[in-house]
Amino acid sequence: MFKIAKTDLDVFIDVLTRSSYEVLAPIEEGETTKFGVVGGEKIKIPHLTTRPLKELFFPQNESLLSFDCLGTPDASIDTSGLLASDGISPRVALGVRPCDARALVLLDYVFASKDYRDPYYTTRREQTVIITFACPLPGIACFCTSIGGGPYDETGSDVIFMELADSYLVKTVSEKGKRLFLKVLPLLEGDSKEHKRVHEADDADIQAAREVKAASEQSVNASVPIEAAVDALGKAEAFSDLAWEEVHKKCLGCAVCTYLCPTCHCFDIGDEVTGVSGERIRNWDSCMFPLFTLHASGHNPRPSRKERFRQRIMHKFNYFMENNDCMACVGCGRCVWNCPVNLDIRQVLATLARRELV
Ligand code: SF4
Ligand code: SF4
Repeated sequence: MFKIAKTDLDVFIDVLTRSSYEVLAPIEEGETTKFGVVGGEKIKIPHLTTRPLKELFFPQNESLLSFDCLGTPDASIDTSGLLASDGISPRVALGVRPCDARALVLLDYVFASKDYRDPYYTTRREQTVIITFACPLPGIACFCTSIGGGPYDETGSDVIFMELADSYLVKTVSEKGKRLFLKVLPLLEGDSKEHKRVHEADDADIQAAREVKAASEQSVNASVPIEAAVDALGKAEAFSDLAWEEVHKKCLGCAVCTYLCPTCHCFDIGDEVTGVSGERIRNWDSCMFPLFTLHASGHNPRPSRKERFRQRIMHKFNYFMENNDCMACVGCGRCVWNCPVNLDIRQVLATLARRELV
């Protein structure tokens, strides 16, 4: 492990850029924060970006291919969308929080499994190094420790930065992270022996990081009864549990919770045609919308918000588990912060588990 002064973070970003990496870090956009390309400006790492990291790999809208429908022997299918994702240059996502990094591993089950590989997603994954910043001060809506993660969790990270008083302790986690640092360290060190930018971490640094980590982990709400909720949702009678009548009542069906969730991954594909040519576009979709399951016959198997809300919870804490042996939630709390009617998923899980939320 080594350490870099906080004041040298800008130099580190400059070194990454000079080493031909595109650097993506939290940026402000109006009242929201999201990951975007940075260059030159000072970066500020928020507690958690409003928009999730997933959109760097699975954008809200993307063109998969374009086509021409002339109906002549010259009619063609042009895979320019595919080529565009093939052409993604090496990049670094910097300032990622551990829950967002962990969420990528869950998305890999969907888009990069052994049975199915989505070329758009996997190309971006392969080309991106994830530099996570551990959370020294988790937020009040966080419940990552209840769900198997934590503010210093390394799952999904290639490198992890741990904040100390005036520096970051840096640990390379994956081979990809090690390769990145082998490449950029000589440039970061510079030739000046007087001003070393990279220092070996000593025992005092490691001890200080351990103390911040322990305090941080203790401050996360660990009272969410996830195991009891998963058990309850795994029972045959869970589908008809009368508690669904109660827990969904406040929901407006706005889908903010699914759009901002780092693990939600439903999409729709449609063709947009102008004249004789068009594009095949993939757009995020949401199980909270009535059109999501509407059949061509007019029948809708999830006719009301109750069924749609039940689907969201059952998918995260039962169906995804059956398929992948893990929950489709990382406890980031975005759905808690951003729901316009304060519908708190932690309370929903406690109600379904017949437990009190402390
Ligand atoms: S954000 Fe809240 S109101 Fe909107 S769909 Fe989700 S639970 Fe319902
Ligand atoms: S369900 Fe809510 S807490 Fe869980 S990962 Fe999605 S946004 Fe975060």
